Amino acid sequence: MITYRIDARDPNTHTFQVTLTIPAPAAEQRLSLPAWVPGSYLVREFARHLSGLEASQGGRAVALTQLDKATWLARCSGRAALTVHYRVYAFDTSVRTAYLDAQRGFINGTSLCLRVEGREADPHRLELRALPAGWQVATAMRAVQVDAAGRGRYEAAGYDELVDHPIELGRFWRGQFEAHGVSHEYIVAGALPDFDGARLLADAKRICEAQIGFWHGTPSRGAAAASRKPPFGRYVFLHNLIEDGHGGLEHRASTALISPRRDMPATGARADRHGKPEASEGYVNLLGLISHEYFHTWNVKRLRPAEFAQLDYTRENYTELLWFFEGFTSYYDDAFLLRTGLIDAGRYLRLIARTVSGVLAMPGRKVQSVAQASFDSWVKYYRSDENTPNATISYYTKGSLVALAFDLSLRSEGKGTLDDVMRLLWARSGGGPISEADIAAALQQVGGRSFAKELVAWVHGTDDLPLQPLLERAGVEWSVDAATLAQRLGVRVGESALTGIKVSHVLRGGAAERAGLAAGDELLAVAGWRVRRLDDALRLLQPGMPAPLLVNRDQRVLTLNIVLPPAAHGADGAVTLRAAATPAKPALALRKAWLGG
Ligand SMILES: [Zn+2]
Repeated sequence: MITYRIDARDPNTHTFQVTLTIPAPAAEQRLSLPAWVPGSYLVREFARHLSGLEASQGGRAVALTQLDKATWLARCSGRAALTVHYRVYAFDTSVRTAYLDAQRGFINGTSLCLRVEGREADPHRLELRALPAGWQVATAMRAVQVDAAGRGRYEAAGYDELVDHPIELGRFWRGQFEAHGVSHEYIVAGALPDFDGARLLADAKRICEAQIGFWHGTPSRGAAAASRKPPFGRYVFLHNLIEDGHGGLEHRASTALISPRRDMPATGARADRHGKPEASEGYVNLLGLISHEYFHTWNVKRLRPAEFAQLDYTRENYTELLWFFEGFTSYYDDAFLLRTGLIDAGRYLRLIARTVSGVLAMPGRKVQSVAQASFDSWVKYYRSDENTPNATISYYTKGSLVALAFDLSLRSEGKGTLDDVMRLLWARSGGGPISEADIAAALQQVGGRSFAKELVAWVHGTDDLPLQPLLERAGVEWSVDAATLAQRLGVRVGESALTGIKVSHVLRGGAAERAGLAAGDELLAVAGWRVRRLDDALRLLQPGMPAPLLVNRDQRVLTLNIVLPPAAHGADGAVTLRAAATPAKPALALRKAWLGG
């Protein structure tokens, strides 16, 4: 049994002490720390936080040779257990690494647990006893011998499983519910006193039950009880609340979430006209995140790219399929809020419209396909900069619209839905690795025709998706708002009293680019007038007429000339989607089947 003993009793140093014991080590035993955490496709070099590595065998020091940035070689003599000690600095509040202070601790095994090369399939044990007084432990890892607070011994069948069970430490709120007979634990750290835990649990339960039903059938659909069971015996939400930030990371039987504290439901929330407590925009975002990460338990943790069948922790693991695993999951996350009645159809259409508008505002959608965006996530998606909107498209947002386009196409042709495609993929792969050819085959089987042309155009091409006709055929009206000044100029800015008007992005082919504006410029004056907000410039610019523009770039004041394009030309405004008031009968039937109501 490979054993890691973790000591968190010095939280003010933000440092975990780890003691790793390896029975019967190899004569030349290699140890390495992962370069990335599965689910977040960026090489993060966790070894940069590891220090003080030393090893011994039977009380005698063992020489360690460092082979590369994250790998060490221990030259052992005999088969006596090798004991390795090291420290890991942990002060990242994201869900991707590890954290420790006097309030809480958080562990991803990829940050803390050296991989004992050649022994990955051995059972792995984690000892979590040396914690600050009063702390609890929460994780989906199997508890073998723990006290009431969860302190004690945990075990995993191998290294992959060990690092796929994140751990929350500290004094946190703990809730529980059953979904289709499976126990779900919900941990919240950092909540305000008026946090409405009962409402959060009730809403999360609706999402979980709907998704288990989606993949495995519901009792009313007559499925056998055995096939209704999800592929995990217990599930844990590890939710940390912070001032700003939003994100999650999916795991096989748990998820780690962060969201703004103010997005949590509060007791005494105002009721809507149906007498239900109103859901703030922030709370709907949070429910979408819960739904997204939970859907991943099937779609990417089990059903997954063929390239992820065996993960390589040392380097980039390339796949062209994140448009499916992230994009389709993004399509279903909000869809489940609609299906469970947590939002209504109008609100759902507003969420889709927001995604459509976001994609259409990216000139990079003409440069990069979602298949390329998937492959390049390691150097592009997770490394966004001022050029990102011009050079890339998100496999999350456009990927979710590809799912929408397939779903609406299938529904309008009347042979099936995207739900059927997802379940067919699950059944055919046994909940395992798949390739794009499997997706194509499932679409063809459900739709009764080949979707090869759509896959080429939507997934591997850069033309805009035919969403407007597809939505109109489903009884949804598409309209385009008037462009804002920023959209007409092709610029994105941040505004505050401290920074003034600061350019964050100059969009490809726009008036701002033609004028010579650059990211980082501060806009000072337009046509001889000082401006404090970009929209103030609207009254100073005549469409088609050049106007002087004063900017500060690196403390040098430059005079540029900008020409405001006429309102009818150039970039469009945001897209608005509404249920059509009097759709044709087939469109109404399609809309009812898709949006309910
Ligand atoms: Zn995701």
